[in-house]
This record gives sequence, structure tokens and C-alpha cells, in this order.
Amino acid sequence: MNKALRQVIIAGNWKMNKTRPEAKALIEQLKPVAAKASCGVVICVPFTNLETAVELTKGTNIKVGAQNCHFEKSGAFTGEVSADMLKEIGAEYVIIGHSERRQYFGETDVTVNKRTKAALEAGLKVILCVGELLTEREQGVTEEIVGLQTKIALLGVTKEQLKNVVIAYEPVWAIGTGKTATAEQANEVCSYIRGIIAKLYDKAAADGITIQYGGSMNPKNAEELLAQPDVDGGLIGGASLKAEDFGVLLDAASK
Ligand code: PEP
Repeated sequence: MNKALRQVIIAGNWKMNKTRPEAKALIEQLKPVAAKASCGVVICVPFTNLETAVELTKGTNIKVGAQNCHFEKSGAFTGEVSADMLKEIGAEYVIIGHSERRQYFGETDVTVNKRTKAALEAGLKVILCVGELLTEREQGVTEEIVGLQTKIALLGVTKEQLKNVVIAYEPVWAIGTGKTATAEQANEVCSYIRGIIAKLYDKAAADGITIQYGGSMNPKNAEELLAQPDVDGGLIGGASLKAEDFGVLLDAASK
């Protein structure tokens, strides 16, 4: 597998953080930091910050994403936002299937698949999150869980559409906990997912797809994680909220 065939992307997941003035300040700090990066740079902001982020990042190398979208085009879905709405406001990416959505908002593999297809059909790029719980890792079923999540999420996604999918391997036990997967664990599962893509599509698709690691990636551990042959960047929570930390990760990914 040749890492040079695919784009390394560092994507920030701001989660439910930053009012509009706070978002503006962070984006202004990020601009010069991101300008030096040779990897892809994405910030996934709360819905309320999308318009601001799109406006402020015009003409820069920072791409803007949302953190979820509904699978229906419109209708009686109070509190939800459609993929077309995100596209229209200027978002380029959307995170789908984050473990916090699965854990707190009833997201299932089936709804992840519906949302993935809706986002792709609307012309968005999808950051598709998969990952096992601690109990699942301890039971030795990480590959089965991650394999199943990946296969169901991509049901009905064509090879052409897959070019707009980034997969984020995020072991749930490592998200926001300060516990990071070892570089070997991260690489092992990213490589396993690439093998699934090769089986579902073909080798070219597997070689070309960006597979990130996410889970407490920070300035201290980023270099080792990002040096792994099958880890093509990261989905970053906590460390994406400080420009200085995010900058260190961008530097590590740009090497
Ligand atoms: C995430 O939100 O996807 C994530 C990986 O969070 P953290 O980096 O804080 O673990």
C-alpha cells in the first residue's frame, strides 16, 4: 500500500464548542498556522458557526465541514439539518457516524448508511467514523465490529462516490479520554479497513482512500501516529480547539 497515493488530512471536530465570536477568533489564529501545511486542513464546526467559518476561510487552504446531517431532504424532523442545507451554506465536508452520535443520539449503522448516501448525493465529502468500544476490544472483536460498521455504512455507495469518503478510525475508548491507541494498534485497524475497501471495491480504491486515526491525538503523540503507513491523518477533537496544538498536528502531518 502506497501512502503517496492518497491525501493526508487533519480534520478538527470542534464538537459543541465555540460561540460565533470565539469561532472567529480561533479561525483567525488558524489561518497563518494552516497556510504552512501541505496536508489537507478541515474544521468541522457547530451548525451555528458554518456561515462564519465559510466566510472567514474564503481564499485560504482551510475547508469547512459540519458534524452531522439528516438523511431526508426536508420535512418534519425538528432540530435536524439536511445535507442540501449544508451544501448550500458552503460546507464541503460532514462528519457522519461519530461515536458521540451513536452513543447519545441513537445513531445506528443503518442511519449512518442513510446519512452517508444523502451527504454524498448532495455533493458533500463525508468523514465516516467507525470504531470499537473498550469491551469489544477486550473481547477481541475489534475487526468484526469495525468491518461491519464500514460495510454497512458503505452499502450502495459507488466506487465513484467513494472518492468523496474519508474514513476515520476512532476507537471509542480513546475519544476525549486522553488514552491513545498505540501507533501499532492504530495502523493495524486502519490497514484492516483498507483491506475491507479492497474487497468491497478494488485495490485502486483501497490505495486511494484517506483513512484517519482519531482518539486523543495531540502534539505529543501525533508524529508517531501519523508516521504509520496506513494512517493518513487524523480527526482531532480537543487539540483542534487551540490553534497552537492544531498547528503542531498540521506540521507533523505535513512531513
Ligand atoms: C473526536 O471527537 O473525533 C476525537 C477524536 O476527540 P479527541 O481528539 O478529543 O479524543
